[in-house]
Amino acid sequence: MLILMQSDHSEAELRAVLDKVRALKLKPHVIPGKQSVAVGITGNSSAIDPHLFDGLPGVREAVRVTRPYKLAGRDFKHEDTVVKIGPYGLGGPDLIVIAGPCAVESETQLLRIAHAVKKAGAQLLRGGAYKPRTSPYAFQGLGKKGLQLLAKARKETGMPIVTEVLDQRSLDDVAKYSDVLQVGARNMQNFALLKEIGQLRKPVMLKRGLSATLDEWLMSAEYLLSEGNKDVFLCERGIRAFSDHARNTLDLNVVPAVKEMSHLPIIVDPSHATGVRSRVAPMARAAVAAGAHGLMIEVHDRPDQALCDGPQALHPDDFAVLMRDIAAIGAATGRALATPAYGKK
Ligand code: PEP
Ligand code: MN
Repeated sequence: MLILMQSDHSEAELRAVLDKVRALKLKPHVIPGKQSVAVGITGNSSAIDPHLFDGLPGVREAVRVTRPYKLAGRDFKHEDTVVKIGPYGLGGPDLIVIAGPCAVESETQLLRIAHAVKKAGAQLLRGGAYKPRTSPYAFQGLGKKGLQLLAKARKETGMPIVTEVLDQRSLDDVAKYSDVLQVGARNMQNFALLKEIGQLRKPVMLKRGLSATLDEWLMSAEYLLSEGNKDVFLCERGIRAFSDHARNTLDLNVVPAVKEMSHLPIIVDPSHATGVRSRVAPMARAAVAAGAHGLMIEVHDRPDQALCDGPQALHPDDFAVLMRDIAAIGAATGRALATPAYGKK
């Protein structure tokens, strides 16, 4: 249920609406808008009668929201969400690029790559300290040491850090060191983890599950939002389909679909979506043309020695060329790469 207030409603009228929602043992969410204020209601297991509200003073209309996700949907909040990350805004006209290695491997490796992606114009640095690997025998990440190296790279470059949180046990540590918490594809429906992250006040990048529908993905975002964390953005990283020519199938179609259904920003990760270096740049360019608010790209200067995902890593020189292409495509569609503002937090 969404209650639309009249543009000239009084504070007392709004308070009366909120009290009535709470009296029904439901949760009101005040949604300020450019034209008028709305109140979203969650917590109901069945439909609420609109007549309970639409006769109240100051109320313009009470409308049913039929979609299962509420806080993540455009019905509840019409205006685009812009997630603030350090000096940047993700979800507005600026294009944001997150780049770095798949995994933090060593101090020298991370710093070399961090400086290279910074030079090419990336705004945020990525690197996994805790890695979700298909094989238990594969490199699992440096753990806390990896987080400390990321913090060192941030100090040296000024770039905010994006890194994955794998489980509740490491959540406190990851939250302490990172600027954005990455929820990986395999954890998209780890509801216990989502609830805990939802209690934090730190930006979250929610990757799409390996076979998740748009509704399932937005319901996972709803877990974060309903716990109070509003700084959520989505990342399309390819899904499992029947094609076997690539690691995954990049669903670019979902970019305009997300923008229709939700106010949350959406970025695209063409690295995991293709798994093949030669296809990363074409799909990155296509993603920007399709309206993505940003990209996440894996970069490694010695991909043949990488401990994780070497075959899909772009060399820094190729990444620099891609950044110039993205700037040109952005300009053609009325957007620009956010100007790096390192250290000006
Ligand atoms: C990653 O970004 O390093 C990663 C593991 O991605 P995903 O969860 O999309 O597989
Ligand atoms: Mn990877």
